[in-house]
Amino acid sequence: MIFYSDFDGTLTKEGRELTREFFDILDLIAKYNHELVIVSGRSLSWGHFFLTHFPLRACIMEGGGVVLYLDDNGEIVEKPLVSQIEIDRLASFTTNLKNHFPGIPMSADSFGRLTDRAIEFHLMDAELIKEVEDFMVQHKINFSKSNVHINFWAGDISKYLGVKQFKEAFRPDIKDENCWFFGDAPNDQSMFEFFHNSVGVSNIHHCLNRLTHKPRIILEGPENAGPKGVLNYIKKLC
Ligand SMILES: [Mg+2]
Repeated sequence: MIFYSDFDGTLTKEGRELTREFFDILDLIAKYNHELVIVSGRSLSWGHFFLTHFPLRACIMEGGGVVLYLDDNGEIVEKPLVSQIEIDRLASFTTNLKNHFPGIPMSADSFGRLTDRAIEFHLMDAELIKEVEDFMVQHKINFSKSNVHINFWAGDISKYLGVKQFKEAFRPDIKDENCWFFGDAPNDQSMFEFFHNSVGVSNIHHCLNRLTHKPRIILEGPENAGPKGVLNYIKKLC
């Protein structure tokens, strides 16, 4: 089986803390010879951290913009899932955005990003957020909100497209019924829309009314929040 999972708020407690449940999830998956693939809006640089420090073979970062995997020699390979033209268009738009909105709080890891950039929206008031979003629409730049960032990118990127391309290129033999996805926020919606075995951990209730596409299974109760919910659900499947 492959367990695809969002990171912030799904594998971490309240988007801030790595708890023992995360390591129990890693142990359980290793015990049964399954695989965990993190699918996160965090940067490519975070993907290097994940593959270096956790027993993972691949992860899908920047909201589906780039796959990182270990080759046969154990070296990390980066595979962008959008064209160089779109990567360049994003770079020039970002310069334009920063000139238009001086002091806009770019995320600290924006310099480590390749296929998207991120803004710390909790540092902005609602009016400024709206102006920034309108500016992105005008310039045909796509964006979505996670529970920590507004992520924006050029071209066709989503967590679902990232997973689909990863699956076709790297894990073609794993049947759909043996693949699961766990998430907790609006930026997981492409997976909730198109991926059959989707599970929302119980903290998704904070944003459920803002979701156009909801997970097929929604966990309940504080005992199923974040990594606790993932661990409990995986235990039932193993
Ligand atoms: Mg999340």
